[in-house]
Amino acid sequence: MDSCDVIIVGGGPAGSTLAWKLRKRGLDVVVLDKSTFPRDKVCAGWITPATTELLQLDKDDYSRGRVLQEINGFRTSMIGGAEVVTRYERTASYGIRRSEFDHYLLQRSGARLRLGEPLKIMKRNNGAWIVNDDVKTPLVIGAGGHFCPVSRFVRGNEEKKPSAVIAQEVEFEMDASQQLECQVEGDTPELFFCEDLKGYGWCVRKGNFLNIGLGREDEPNLTEQMKSFVEYLKVRERIPSNVPTHFKGHAYRLYKGASQNLVDDNVMLIGDAAGLAYPKSGEGIRPAVESALTAAEVILSAAGDYQRSKLLEYPLQLAERLGQEDSSPDILPQSVKRFMSRKLMESKWFSRRVLLDRWFLNTHRPVLS
Ligand SMILES: Cc1cc2nc3c(=O)[nH]c(=O)nc-3n(C[C@H](O)[C@H](O)[C@H](O)COP(=O)(O)OP(=O)(O)OC[C@H]3O[C@@H](n4cnc5c(N)ncnc54)[C@H](O)[C@@H]3O)c2cc1C
Repeated sequence: MDSCDVIIVGGGPAGSTLAWKLRKRGLDVVVLDKSTFPRDKVCAGWITPATTELLQLDKDDYSRGRVLQEINGFRTSMIGGAEVVTRYERTASYGIRRSEFDHYLLQRSGARLRLGEPLKIMKRNNGAWIVNDDVKTPLVIGAGGHFCPVSRFVRGNEEKKPSAVIAQEVEFEMDASQQLECQVEGDTPELFFCEDLKGYGWCVRKGNFLNIGLGREDEPNLTEQMKSFVEYLKVRERIPSNVPTHFKGHAYRLYKGASQNLVDDNVMLIGDAAGLAYPKSGEGIRPAVESALTAAEVILSAAGDYQRSKLLEYPLQLAERLGQEDSSPDILPQSVKRFMSRKLMESKWFSRRVLLDRWFLNTHRPVLS
């Protein structure tokens, strides 16, 4: 039987970041992922400078043969409303392709990789786990995304629905005529907010690739909404008239407070498995990376003793970092909210200072040191 110090289930940004940090400190780390890499992940592929900083991403190395689209502006509007273009003097974000980004980070981690292998079974064994009847380890990390199988061991059947976002998207490489027809600019992604403020659509152009998507909280009819959104973009001549019509879907949870249920004896949850995406924007990569870096410090301090009491520092630090759940009552009626938000969305000041700087770019949050 194989053995290791830590086994990480899931090789997305959360899992690969934790593996990278622990490997640097000499731990024997195995990453298990059901997919072989490079693999696609449903995602707009927008990352903030804070994320590249946290990952210490060597941008010159990364951009060799991979897409790293600099973003220095955004075009924002309420669907059907007037658009506001906000420009930045600096690079405000980057567009990446998840197939490339996740593969790069996983390879860089230096961990032992068991790819194409799903987690099938994990059994407790004298203060350790036996994973897939083949690897013995004192610590299992659940980094398997929204449907992470490890989270069942930690969170049981805790309700996932209230804060889940469901989303659909299509990402494709445009041919020469589609590139000419596409009015979306690489350095200026476009965001289109739904009238009820329960979600938004996006168009992100990265090199020759175009990503179009729509994400909403609790939407039973997303496919129809996605179709109408794509038609809306075509009528406005923002996107090519012949975009692929096969949309891929996925879900993820927004952060509603870091519960102590993120750890148990010899097991922890990070990234989407812990439900950490920023509630206002749905950005999930930065909190996934931050959760991995926070978990790494707690694991190293625990020095091999992974009882729940030793790991509880992790949700405490996360709560400090990400804040407590916003439980302020929603007192305004929908009609008033719609009217006010349409007006606000047309304001240049609101679009830059609140919508983009605060809600989307999170410039008020210092980068974890
Ligand atoms: C449509 C959409 C658009 C988004 N756009 C953005 C964006 O532009 N920017 C941003 O910051 N965030 C975005 N997000 C959120 C972001 O994608 C996630 O927050 C992020 O991927 C979380 O990373 P993770 O490592 O926790 O999980 P994931 O990236 O989901 O990785 C989980 C890994 O676990 C593996 N796995 C799953 N089950 C098993 C199993 N049983 N056994 C073994 N391995 C398993 C999977 O194969 C996968 O490789 C978006 C999400 C969606 C759905």
